[in-house]
Amino acid sequence: MERNRLESLVRPNIRNLCPYSTARDEYAGRPGIFLDANESPYDTGFNRYPDPRQQALKARISVLKGVPAERIFVGNGSDEAIDLLFRIFCVPGRDNAVAIVPSYGMYAVAAATNDVALREVPLGADFSLPAEALLAAADADSRLLFLCSPNNPTGNAFAPEALCGLAERFPGIVVVDEAYIDFSRVPGLLGVLDRYHNLVVLQTLSKAWGLAGLRVGLAFADPYIARLMGAVKYPYNLSQAAQQLALQALEQDPAPRIAAIVAGRDRLAARLPAFACVRKVWPSEANFLLVEVDDPDALYAHLLADGIIVRNRSRVPGCAGCLRITAGLPEENEQLIQSIEAYEKSHLR
Ligand SMILES: *Cc1c(COP(=O)(O)O)cnc(C)c1O
Repeated sequence: MERNRLESLVRPNIRNLCPYSTARDEYAGRPGIFLDANESPYDTGFNRYPDPRQQALKARISVLKGVPAERIFVGNGSDEAIDLLFRIFCVPGRDNAVAIVPSYGMYAVAAATNDVALREVPLGADFSLPAEALLAAADADSRLLFLCSPNNPTGNAFAPEALCGLAERFPGIVVVDEAYIDFSRVPGLLGVLDRYHNLVVLQTLSKAWGLAGLRVGLAFADPYIARLMGAVKYPYNLSQAAQQLALQALEQDPAPRIAAIVAGRDRLAARLPAFACVRKVWPSEANFLLVEVDDPDALYAHLLADGIIVRNRSRVPGCAGCLRITAGLPEENEQLIQSIEAYEKSHLR
């Protein structure tokens, strides 16, 4: 897509938006005596407003990811980025968005809250990418295409070439949600970001970085899109605590924990098929397994009674019979196996 076509996709009111300018936006010098923001002068650790542009955090993310800071948006979870994309690109009640299904539930929720029709296109056989059907679902009012790779809840990753092909051919913004990319052997799209003006890559600190409670989501995009997201967000969308703790956490290499989680996932994937109640363990590039079983409700209830909570996805279209099981600590995975062993014994009697 041509760079100048991007602008025509943006809602006119957003294109012409004059964003709120905070006290700290208007002052960019050295620290001094701050009498500009009606804060308390008494140091509680949090008496000052946080940096609305999150410059320190973006600088660190830029180094980690090899993406210039002007292409980075940091939000209150990926959910904020998803909602902002609807608000920036979709005129409520008129424009539409396209998404694969089954996938992350927030695309549909954000579409609905923004009064945007979501055209859901089922994944192909073995959860493959339905590229032609996705393009066929689009029309002149399609503004967003949501793809998720590795996909939740199916666990598979799509070929980068196929995702890039959609970025080339889709007439609107292509959003690729890479929440689980750190667990995957398939490379993500950050390396080709500058080739596609209409590509938005979502990542998060909630999974591999172990910071779900902090609420830090990332979007990587053309500088024009990143700037729009920065203009539409709440000025202080990321608290001082979130910025500080995220910056601190990003100093530690998550690779050992990621490797341990992946090893645990693979051990579970190797052992689960031995159970008679397990019909299929879907291959996973994420930190969870989609497991098809004989009686998902019964197994779910049994695990729950043992204090083990998994996600029952058996009512999700395309996931009949399936539970989604997150890889935990080695001892937690072991308890899961033991609980399923007990379940089988009680059912075979
Ligand atoms: C968990 C998850 C996220 C993370 O959302 P946050 O709001 O950043 O916690 C995003 N996308 C998908 C597909 C997920 O499964």
